[in-house]
Amino acid sequence: MLEDVKNAGVVGAGGAGFPTHVKLDCKVEYLIVNAAECEPLLATDKYIMNAYPDEIVEGVCAVADHVSASKAFIAIKSVNQKETGSVRDAISRLRRNVEVFPLDNYYPAGDEQMVVYDVTGRTVPPSGIPLEVGAVVSNVATILNIHDAMRGHPVTHKFLTVTGEVLRPMILKVPIGTAFEECLNACGGVSLADFKVIDGGPMMGTVADDADIGSKRVTKTTSGIIIIPDKDNFVSRQHDTVVEKILNRAKSACIQCTFCTDMCPRRLIGHKIRPHMVMRRMSTMDFGVALSADSILEEALICCECGICEAFACPMALSPRQVNKYVKKQLSGVRYNKTDEPLVPSDMRAYRKIAPSKIMARMGLWGLYANKANDFAELSPETVRIPIKQHIGAPARPAVQPGESVSCGQLIAEADGRVSAHVHASIDGVVTEVENFIEIKRNRPES
Ligand code: SF4
Ligand code: SF4
Repeated sequence: MLEDVKNAGVVGAGGAGFPTHVKLDCKVEYLIVNAAECEPLLATDKYIMNAYPDEIVEGVCAVADHVSASKAFIAIKSVNQKETGSVRDAISRLRRNVEVFPLDNYYPAGDEQMVVYDVTGRTVPPSGIPLEVGAVVSNVATILNIHDAMRGHPVTHKFLTVTGEVLRPMILKVPIGTAFEECLNACGGVSLADFKVIDGGPMMGTVADDADIGSKRVTKTTSGIIIIPDKDNFVSRQHDTVVEKILNRAKSACIQCTFCTDMCPRRLIGHKIRPHMVMRRMSTMDFGVALSADSILEEALICCECGICEAFACPMALSPRQVNKYVKKQLSGVRYNKTDEPLVPSDMRAYRKIAPSKIMARMGLWGLYANKANDFAELSPETVRIPIKQHIGAPARPAVQPGESVSCGQLIAEADGRVSAHVHASIDGVVTEVENFIEIKRNRPES
């Protein structure tokens, strides 16, 4: 199975793109399929669960066999009743030994460490991985790709949600390397003159200005394209504020109320992370002064950057997440000092799970909830630009030259080492450029 997965270039479809053949090279007690899709507005995983339930269940069983898991769960929010029903029906139709695990409707239910805690009751150690508590977690879209890989189909296309300020929000299936602009045009175009585009979800996605949209392409990890207004919302304000200003505000306005720490999801499962202490520590530092690791600043290294502290918790509109990001960057290369201290989850966790709708309201993006992506379309663009690095690890090495004809599914860049991933052509055509991406123009029959 690992060979099939490697050959097909499968990487984690829901997150940073860790090569799946490396992740699944293990034996565990629990296989957990992460179908929480906790980022507000995204509906990609829900579409996949409704459209491909049999493939998902078959994929889960194949992976569970491979990793020798005695327990296989598909973790779905219980509010997603249609998807739960679709997957449960497939399990009973196919008579498979897989269970649906109902998750509460909170953000970040889909954080890998949250889903492990919810399903197993075990806390993954800070800066650790689920394997350390006998679990492996795979996103539901990754499972579909594994199912296809085992039938000889490489990863060439991506399902994604296009929503926000577009005329017709949709779920699209597009060749990898498709321009964001083509996706937006397929949805009737953007309904605002000035906007920002989010690659991913509003909480953890990458934000870009409208002027930069021309360079954006769909990759193996693009789960959504969301258009938001350029002003008057939390996400845009964060994007437009330089880190020096964020740090100066933190110095002058943090009242040490500890709400950021009390609400931190990682803290609530037992990690020793105290963003208010990092804020206090940073208030003594001048901007630009080189930081060195100490027992408090090191806590920033275990922040998962979920954004609860800044988007919901802080009453002073400060940004502990951005401060943690800054500290992490300054301490790059420093490893978190693991200790044997017991990890004690908080009794308050059940009461501090925040519904995504509340966060959206707090961020000034509540209005976008009405724009549901109900329709589906498949695109076939004339040109694709496929990045050679869409995954964690080394970029793939191009295996084609400009002028070469390629067909969809053909290997065009080879994994460079163990932690890397193959890249395949996503359309039939001719290679026109090879740089840190491979551009292919579609063959069209001569008229
Ligand atoms: S919630 Fe805001 S004001 Fe309170 S301690 Fe954290 S950063 Fe400071
Ligand atoms: S972003 Fe804030 S709430 Fe999230 S893990 Fe980091 S410190 Fe905790």
